[in-house]
Amino acid sequence: MTLPVIQYGDPVLRKKGARVEQITPAIQQLIADMFETMEAASGVGLAAQQVGQALQLLVVDVREAKDRPSTLFLGGQPADVAEFMPLALLNPQITPLGAPVAGPEGCLSFPELYADVSRPESIEVKALGKDGQPLEFRCGGLLARAIQHELDHLNGILFIDRMGLEDRLDLKPKLDQLQFETKASLAKKAKKS
Ligand code: ZN
Repeated sequence: MTLPVIQYGDPVLRKKGARVEQITPAIQQLIADMFETMEAASGVGLAAQQVGQALQLLVVDVREAKDRPSTLFLGGQPADVAEFMPLALLNPQITPLGAPVAGPEGCLSFPELYADVSRPESIEVKALGKDGQPLEFRCGGLLARAIQHELDHLNGILFIDRMGLEDRLDLKPKLDQLQFETKASLAKKAKKS
């Protein structure tokens, strides 16, 4: 089932995720729901915080972004990115490899907000997959950018924290408005319950 995507202004987006210690049926269901939610929103990635769960769990799928290439190396060999998608990563750890490059980013928790963010072009990833299997790979391009963006979410870091000062100033009225709307809707929900 698709889940509501948490918007900027909700404190859960600033929470550091707890490690996933066991692949329980609830975790399996959460991963399936996050895949479905990401697809329905035409997103490239989604972090557990964005569906209200502060956990070290993210999903990515770069197949639809055909104009922004990705690279993937498994065991040192080039591998097919599409076959690897959609991808769930639990307790991921990354090592930056390439020099930082600027590239456009958006976020499902910030509708219609875009800005350039600098991130290392390629990374090495160690994580558990959706069935708890150990994963180790190297990736570049959009896939590396998406994983780094989502990994930030798992630590309560948002892409606005990594934007240039000028972009952040330009976007400030929209950010303030979004935060205001989210807080108002949270207050309304709290009143009802
Ligand atoms: Zn995001």
